[in-house]
Amino acid sequence: MKRLAVLGSTGSIGRQTLEVVSAFPDRFEVVALACGENVSLLKEQVAEFKPRLVCTELAAGAKEILGATCLSLEEIASHPDVDLVVISTSGKAGLGATLAAIRAGKKVALANKEVLVMAGGIVVAEAQKYDAEIVPIDSEHSAIWQCLNGEERRTVSKLILTASGGPFRQSTLAQLAAVTPKDALNHPTWRMGTKVTIDSATLMNKGMEVIEAHWLFDIPYSQIEVVIHPQSIIHSIVEFVDGSAKAQLSLPDMRLPIQYALTHPERWESPFREGIDFGSIVSFDFEPVDLDRFPCLKLAMEAGERGGTYPAVLSAADEVAVELFLAKKIGFPDIAAVVARTLDCHEVISYPSIEDIFAADTWARETARLGFEEAE
Ligand code: MG
Repeated sequence: MKRLAVLGSTGSIGRQTLEVVSAFPDRFEVVALACGENVSLLKEQVAEFKPRLVCTELAAGAKEILGATCLSLEEIASHPDVDLVVISTSGKAGLGATLAAIRAGKKVALANKEVLVMAGGIVVAEAQKYDAEIVPIDSEHSAIWQCLNGEERRTVSKLILTASGGPFRQSTLAQLAAVTPKDALNHPTWRMGTKVTIDSATLMNKGMEVIEAHWLFDIPYSQIEVVIHPQSIIHSIVEFVDGSAKAQLSLPDMRLPIQYALTHPERWESPFREGIDFGSIVSFDFEPVDLDRFPCLKLAMEAGERGGTYPAVLSAADEVAVELFLAKKIGFPDIAAVVARTLDCHEVISYPSIEDIFAADTWARETARLGFEEAE
């Protein structure tokens, strides 16, 4: 019986995690659930999974929800009754909880991008110090992780992350300038939360995944590439020093990488399994990324390479820029412009503490919002 805490249980990944869990009632026990503001769904989940512990932003100060004890995210993440902590919160809320879980020696299944983007160096060092394992949930990182099974890290020559290219893969610069939030929220292959859907349309999401891959697999940025693969069936590729390449293929369904993160090192027969019908696949396409049309990918890769507080600034400025775009205060290409302007103004701290990272985050949000104060 694996004892789970699911932080961010009402979001897209959290809900799919509980779908996977409910398919294996004898093998998983949900000890704790945590959400932000969606308390009505949390109550449904509490009634179904009967966790002993909960956390919700809106019930701060509450002692109980439907018989479960209310604790803080950090208390839940480090609780002695929890073996595996799923971090599927969005934004920086997951960082403190991830560090608390790591310091308590828990296995952490990570779906939250910001944790490694903001503080990859600290998180990885703490995981080594406390002998805590971090496993990825994101489809690309799960693919790389699966390809690395049985391989030695020093034999890897390249990680190649695939990107669907999003809804504007073939749009011209002029068309991109006219993109509305509604257009950008219509992703061709994946159904996800709002922020990550916009980030997928700008390819900022892929840039953040490059930074995550760097930290998760300890591979230099010079050996990480991105290629467009519109079918979203090849989830990433690892190339080795002998010229061989391994890829992981599956239909785009997040329940597979979630299940693998929960069951690793085992593979369990999945009730959601839907094999690929190779006979009906017309082709697998690949194309290079056009960084002129998708400058967010370049900004993210540069911020990762420059390191220090730059990636935290990138992430925070992007969050503000996406909010401004969704509120129709700025156009689609301005998302990259706001992020670039904020990065340009930043005075980097090369070896930041967690406090430095949170300070850079706050500074970046204020700076990105300059001139758009009415968006508050
Ligand atoms: Mg992904």
